[in-house]
Amino acid sequence: MTEAEEIRRFWGRLGLPGLVDVHTHFMPERVLRKVWAYFDSLGPLTGGLEWPITYRKEEAERVALIREFGVRGFTAMLYPHKPGMAQWLNGWAVEFAARTPDCLHTSTLFPEPGVEVYVREALEAGARVFKAHVQVGAYDPASELLDPAWGLLAEAGVPVVIHCGSGPAPGKHTGPEPVARVLARHPRLRLVIAHMGMTEYEDFLDLAERFGEVRLDTTSAFTDFCERFAPFPRRALPRLADLGDRILLGTDFPNIPYPYIHQLHALERLGLGDDWLRAVCHDNAASLFGL
Ligand SMILES: [Zn+2]
Repeated sequence: MTEAEEIRRFWGRLGLPGLVDVHTHFMPERVLRKVWAYFDSLGPLTGGLEWPITYRKEEAERVALIREFGVRGFTAMLYPHKPGMAQWLNGWAVEFAARTPDCLHTSTLFPEPGVEVYVREALEAGARVFKAHVQVGAYDPASELLDPAWGLLAEAGVPVVIHCGSGPAPGKHTGPEPVARVLARHPRLRLVIAHMGMTEYEDFLDLAERFGEVRLDTTSAFTDFCERFAPFPRRALPRLADLGDRILLGTDFPNIPYPYIHQLHALERLGLGDDWLRAVCHDNAASLFGL
């Protein structure tokens, strides 16, 4: 059986029309090559872990593959590591979304003058999801520069996938505290905490319990790879069950050091049941994005 067949069997058994994956990386080719070089070099982004990329393929092949898996909605998570880059990335994302209708038009932002203007433009251009990377960007998400942009996003109800936990490696502004300050000012902001908030899983579950629009994506959490250095605490499993309508499948495709199906099996073996899997792997994101 091919991997695609195995994946289709997974969602077929659940009676789903496919998967929705809110955390996949598509970006300009030369930026993606740099990201791969970074993973190859065991840099601080990976916490010094060996990180072989499973799906190191051309863009067209990657898009074809994710469609073969039966992923009916996915994203183009891109993110700047410095000022002056977000707007250019957003321009690329507009084109990518136009030629890839099953990709949710994704945009990004950075604390810099003019951010409010280009976030507004992105929303007007139809952006359906944003990505913020606190670790790579090395910024405080509660920075005053970002405040008007968070306000616009909260008002528009457009979700923001935010890498803000301290895994696989901490950053100057990672962890729950800066995000809590953002939410105190923008309680309706639809933050999707990437990687379940790894390594501060329970603190981010606290935030999701306090703020009804906060969600979490499963990206790389519960996999053998991450359980080795950032095990999800078993005592928090009942909280995952209770938050079952606000947990969204994410995988980090294609930048993962294991096959895609492993993320699905890692969710299945949590033992939270088929209803939970249906919600997480498809229904929650389908209703959030109106798919
Ligand atoms: Zn990612």
